[in-house]
Amino acid sequence: MAEDSTAGLAPPLQDAATAPPPSPSSHGSLVALIRSRPGWTRQQLLAATGMSRTTLFDRLDALFAHEYVYQAGSAPAGPDGDGAGPGRRAELLRWDDRGRVVLVLDLGQTHARLCVTGVRGDILRMRDVAMDIDTDAGPYLDTVFDIAQELVDAGDDDEKLIGVALGIPGPVDPLTGVLGRSTTMPRWQSFPISATVRERWHAEVVIENDARAFALGESSVAGSGQTVLAVKYATGIGAGIVDGGHVLEGSAGAAGDIGHIRLTADGPRCTCGRRGCLAAWASGHALVRRLAKTGVQDLRDITERVSAGDATVCAELDTASAALGRVLATVVATINPDTVVLGGTLGRLPRVVSAVDAVIRDHVSDRTTQHLTVTSARLGADGGVVGLARKVVDLVYAPAAVDAAIAGGDASTGGATT
Ligand SMILES: [Zn+2]
Repeated sequence: MAEDSTAGLAPPLQDAATAPPPSPSSHGSLVALIRSRPGWTRQQLLAATGMSRTTLFDRLDALFAHEYVYQAGSAPAGPDGDGAGPGRRAELLRWDDRGRVVLVLDLGQTHARLCVTGVRGDILRMRDVAMDIDTDAGPYLDTVFDIAQELVDAGDDDEKLIGVALGIPGPVDPLTGVLGRSTTMPRWQSFPISATVRERWHAEVVIENDARAFALGESSVAGSGQTVLAVKYATGIGAGIVDGGHVLEGSAGAAGDIGHIRLTADGPRCTCGRRGCLAAWASGHALVRRLAKTGVQDLRDITERVSAGDATVCAELDTASAALGRVLATVVATINPDTVVLGGTLGRLPRVVSAVDAVIRDHVSDRTTQHLTVTSARLGADGGVVGLARKVVDLVYAPAAVDAAIAGGDASTGGATT
């Protein structure tokens, strides 16, 4: 099982996303069914799928061989006992997530959170690093990769890296992982991010916008049927929308890029080159610049001054929160979410949450907000990590991807931790 079986994995699993839907009785669909609850007996699977015994058992043999499913001891005896006969208990079958890990690189504008997680986004090992994304991609990724490799190497020998996820503060094409035109990462423009990651770890790679990854992570707390608008408010401002478990990417991978909505025709110059954008008025970057004369140097200075009740800093933050709230009110009126989640160093501040909450309710109809909750990030700073891990797992265990791996003779779902 420890063979480096993913090294020759081709084509990338993203291609499976555009393939026709797999048959409900395919290997991949069976894995999806087995993942949906903690344990199944063969009898229960026969009843749930309507497959013949021969077909089901053949499929299960392939899934055992490829280590998607394992036999996890005996099912408890009881009225649901599945006909194994007196004195025998049926074997329980489970999704084989044992030792499977994901490497998550959640890159922000000024710092990076690097983690090895389990398949549910539970953080096993983590490092936070101060890193400026406004630099050349090659040297930046070399540094991040070296630290990430240490985290990978610190695991047990039986850990299996199933994929690597990068969250980046720029627009990302959801299928190709290619970075669109970005004002925060101009020097990454034509850099082959996915290929560079794959060269290092020979594993599946997911690249997602950091705010959308954050939204996906936070939506797991909100509940699968909910509509969630999540906003990452730190050095920059970005948002993600998740509806029914699906994150909205948009036609150019730019869904949620609310920072460059222009509030005024003039106003301060924005990093995008225009004037009067929300980011130019209200982003952490803009606030630090505006408060520099008072000695503020970074976001941490802002949060400390706010806790200390510094009137100047609080007033600037309140003005910025009001601007953010007005933009969010338009989004709230458009999509009518159950929850607005505010994350990021500034977004998590209670002062910002209550100001944004008040402005939204003041600007849209009561009907729109009657069920609305506005809250700070419930996963703290981990929402992006949870969302990114989930994207990798969804990619690797998508029914079409499992079918393709089995048809292609890929020997296992794990393996490469070079
Ligand atoms: Zn702008």
